Amino acid sequence: MKVLRFGKAGKTAWGVLSPETGEIREVAGAPFGGIRFTGDTHRLPDVRLLAPVVPSKIVAVGLNYKDHAREMGKKIPEEPLIFLKAPSALNHPGGDVVYPRATQRLDYEAELAVVIGSTARDVKERDASSAIFGYACINDVTARDLQVKDGLYARAKGFDTFAPIGPWIETELDPSALRVRCLVNGEVRQDGNTREMGASVFRLVEFISHIMTLYPGDVIATGTPPGVGPVKVGDSMTVEIDGIGSLTNRVVAP
Ligand code: MG
Repeated sequence: MKVLRFGKAGKTAWGVLSPETGEIREVAGAPFGGIRFTGDTHRLPDVRLLAPVVPSKIVAVGLNYKDHAREMGKKIPEEPLIFLKAPSALNHPGGDVVYPRATQRLDYEAELAVVIGSTARDVKERDASSAIFGYACINDVTARDLQVKDGLYARAKGFDTFAPIGPWIETELDPSALRVRCLVNGEVRQDGNTREMGASVFRLVEFISHIMTLYPGDVIATGTPPGVGPVKVGDSMTVEIDGIGSLTNRVVAP
């Protein structure tokens, strides 16, 4: 099932998309506790897609692909390396990513996003799938020079618009071997597979939920495959994941 959030005529709602017909069945309230339809329907071309969640936090994972760690001259950490990305950085499918004046080096990072479906605390890896609502594409946009300069990630990863997510949440998906790609202006820059992850999706839910409670709608950005690199104003970035779809955002001047 593809669960999306949309805006239309000043109103915002969640909905379930039928990919064959492009019809959206509107959902009453949030979809996490169980889906109840309002009876209203919409057509995909008539709505504006929004980030499919409004998370209380975005937990991101660094160096979680063996081949990406290698390209950065590092090893996969013994325990997952996590950081927080500001929820205010949330951005929509098709939303502009603003190139901040403070950076000279803006990078894309294509990642599989895990969307939490139920309050999760101290969850075991084997039970993790029951805490997951579904999966989406996320672009962990990064000011690489500031990441290196600060040695901390809050600024480099936290600018407004730096967390595009979407285009919707796919609720029926096995995350263990998905192709994750990033295209810049249609040219492939990253082409990885989630089977290269150091810590699996389920292990990440276990690890993080033993530190902080995860709430419905929270997002885990599970790390990026090799091939990270810079973009410039005017570039179009697309994150594409098997079984989900694609998320495209353009880089604009401040
Ligand atoms: Mg990342």
